[in-house]
Amino acid sequence: MDKSPSEDMKKVSQKGVFKKYYADPKFREKHLAYMKTKIPCECEKMVTRVNLNRHKKSHIHKDRMKKLNQLEQDKMKIYSSNIKELTEKILKLLKEKENELK
Ligand SMILES: [Zn+2]
Repeated sequence: MDKSPSEDMKKVSQKGVFKKYYADPKFREKHLAYMKTKIPCECEKMVTRVNLNRHKKSHIHKDRMKKLNQLEQDKMKIYSSNIKELTEKILKLLKEKENELK
């Protein structure tokens, strides 16, 4: 299994020698490349690792989260209204069948 630079970083920072490692151009390059990789944020936007914390405090993130929550709520409203409508249709059909059988 490949060791990710973050694991390396954790190890070295635990030993308190991150700075020493960071002076190594190879390590620094690896670390910078890792920080530049994009990961999906909880707001479903792709963000570089280096920007993730700053992005989460941004208006863009807060706005997207608000919209996502609104979308979830709207979906739930549609689902529940559809269920209500379906239930009414079924009850009506049953009633009709009952009347036919009388
Ligand atoms: Zn976000």
